[in-house]
Amino acid sequence: MSRSRIADHVRTIPRSGIRDFFEIVQSMKEVISLGIGEPDFVTPWHIRESAIYSLEKGRTGYTSNLGAPRLRRAIAAYVEKHFSVGYNPHDEIIVTVGVSEAIDLALRALLNPGDEVVYHEPCYVSYSPSILLAGGVPVAVATRAEDEFTLRAADLEKTITPKTRVLMLNFPTNPTGAVMPLEELKKIAAFAVKHDLVVLSDEIYSELTYDEVPHHSIAALPGMKERTVLLHGFSKAFAMTGWRIGYACGPADIIEAMMKIHQYSILCAPVMAQEAALEALERGQRSMERMREEYRLRRNLIVTSLNEAGIPCHLPKGAFYVFPDIRGTGMTSRDFALQLLEEKKVAVVPGTAFGQSGEGFVRCSYATAMDQIKIAIERISDFVKK
Ligand code: PLP
Repeated sequence: MSRSRIADHVRTIPRSGIRDFFEIVQSMKEVISLGIGEPDFVTPWHIRESAIYSLEKGRTGYTSNLGAPRLRRAIAAYVEKHFSVGYNPHDEIIVTVGVSEAIDLALRALLNPGDEVVYHEPCYVSYSPSILLAGGVPVAVATRAEDEFTLRAADLEKTITPKTRVLMLNFPTNPTGAVMPLEELKKIAAFAVKHDLVVLSDEIYSELTYDEVPHHSIAALPGMKERTVLLHGFSKAFAMTGWRIGYACGPADIIEAMMKIHQYSILCAPVMAQEAALEALERGQRSMERMREEYRLRRNLIVTSLNEAGIPCHLPKGAFYVFPDIRGTGMTSRDFALQLLEEKKVAVVPGTAFGQSGEGFVRCSYATAMDQIKIAIERISDFVKK
């Protein structure tokens, strides 16, 4: 057989489980989808308008590789206010094409072949493949339903080898909505210091916590700023998925290394999206809070209704996902999701799309209109009764 023309490290990576599943969804009619991790809101008008205005003014060129200086200054002010950690916009912040690019840049900047990256699972679908593409070795730590999928610092200790370099965190978590209590986060910080790890902290859902539950950034804890790369963006809280804007804040040497990769592969994030991001930071707070309140109402409805239907579901403190426990049905996550789709035309994502420790659970997104959620819950309830 002739040699494959696709590089081994790419060929051996599986396609995203979500993508395969949604190809089936798209081939069907009248499906209600609780599957997509994307706000159903359109980007607030004042943000769209600022991009239109900047186009009218003819701002269509490249920006600095690190991102427009005004945007970086606004990011520094926003992060200082909301995360209580200060960054120098001159050399500690880079604007990227979504948090997706920031994850890729950080991993490629930090890993030598064979270096290990520890992360908690179930987790966002891109973590393990991004680590592999950067030449690293993914090491997953399972989180538990009884802890509401928060991470226990004690569980991390078993993962350490001489090759461990990076700890990846994502709170609030996709797909479980977990938010870390401060006391446990402090222990995780102490663990990172003890083993001299760099922490990649993906805080893309940080604005979306409910009932006054605070979000704490690990970067703000003592001794952590110098070893943490804080990743954040605009896709979720500001309903800006299609604009493709994110950023990383971190120590100047790591940002410089990330910038070198970004410079040669991307050059800079799109200028009109950077203009829109600036508007979101400077004047987007009220629109974000309105969307958050709507998410809170939907979350309360979906959690109450699932529990009433006999599907145990904890009340997640953040993000816009619930992660109900379907073990009582005796089905695997994949069979549950496929049969629910076939019989009731409701799409949810099998927990295993987020790693093996997601078995026995499915992810339902409540970034879906309330009336759709109500119909979906009725159908799920019928399905489970049967
Ligand atoms: N990180 C997490 C945890 C996510 O859930 C997502 C998107 O679903 C991303 C990163 C990617 O975000 P972006 O649109 O900024 O690339």
